[in-house]
Amino acid sequence: MSPTLHLPGLVDVHTHLRVPGGEHKEDFVSGTAAALAGGFTQILAMPNTSPPLATLDVLHATRAIASETVRCDVGLYAGASPQHVDELRALAAQAVALKIYLNDTFGPLRVEELPTLHGCFRLWPRDKMIAMHAEGQSVAVGIGLAAAYRRPVHFCHISRRDEIELIAAAKQAGLPVTCEVTPHHLFLTDQDAARLGPLGDMRPRLATQDDRDTLWAHIASTVDCIATDHAPHTLAEKASTNPPPGVAGLETALPLMLTAVQQGRLTLDRLVELMALNPRRIFGLPAQPDTTVEIDREARTTLANDRLLTRCGWTPFAGMVVQGLVRRVTLRGQVVYDVDRPEALAPPGAGRVI
Ligand SMILES: [Zn+2]
Repeated sequence: MSPTLHLPGLVDVHTHLRVPGGEHKEDFVSGTAAALAGGFTQILAMPNTSPPLATLDVLHATRAIASETVRCDVGLYAGASPQHVDELRALAAQAVALKIYLNDTFGPLRVEELPTLHGCFRLWPRDKMIAMHAEGQSVAVGIGLAAAYRRPVHFCHISRRDEIELIAAAKQAGLPVTCEVTPHHLFLTDQDAARLGPLGDMRPRLATQDDRDTLWAHIASTVDCIATDHAPHTLAEKASTNPPPGVAGLETALPLMLTAVQQGRLTLDRLVELMALNPRRIFGLPAQPDTTVEIDREARTTLANDRLLTRCGWTPFAGMVVQGLVRRVTLRGQVVYDVDRPEALAPPGAGRVI
């Protein structure tokens, strides 16, 4: 078995790059560097920024910043908000997908009104995905909307037994629903949350061992994508009296999942489906020709804060020993990341805005 493994460029449909308004946590320059270091060449950025990507002005200006600063390919979500439903069609021209927050998250985007949900499902183009942050019985609301409007709905960061089992039932009934799970929900539990404090706090919160085991039980079937929910905050913010929820994830997802492959929890083919093929197909993202990730599959490393390229500079997985090291990333024939040559990192603006 060759020690070098070649994978296609990975696709992450759930990142927070914090532009505009949170650039001290992350921006397109640092966030896309972290993406490439993690083997991701195509990522989608969430709209709960400050101000949110919920108006044409903000979305347009953010696309312009992205086109000058991204190192890998980036698409932007538009955010649903009750005040701007009438802008949805115009927003769709600038965004790859719509995000609807049915439950509490970081930032002000939260939809609680049925008229707004109707508006989203009526106005958002049918060829673009609607993704939902739905926890608990909100998953049933999303499934109901997918059924009533006969259109695909993607569920973000599913984390609990009841939720994944409901999605499995919806799929069995033939409904057009898909879902993602995060590495932190696959590798950590509420026990870790107690140990990590604010550094183990995110939405959805870390769940029980039973929830985690159930996600793994569905990894070869119900789960469609691994998504990082990369949500950086500074250590100072995490140490404050009111720490915001969210943890970084772009640089740890692939080594964690490769470690799971080595442990026999999923196959390498399934990893490629979950981290590249399915997310691209589900969100209708463009192919990236001549794009590969070279991995030293025999390297064992200890995840460490001081090696991260994300601006926030920390990970809840620090200290964990993982299998597999990203050595080199090639995007459209160009080397855009080399672990031994920092100067090979793609410059800001080298990536495309989808
Ligand atoms: Zn998120």
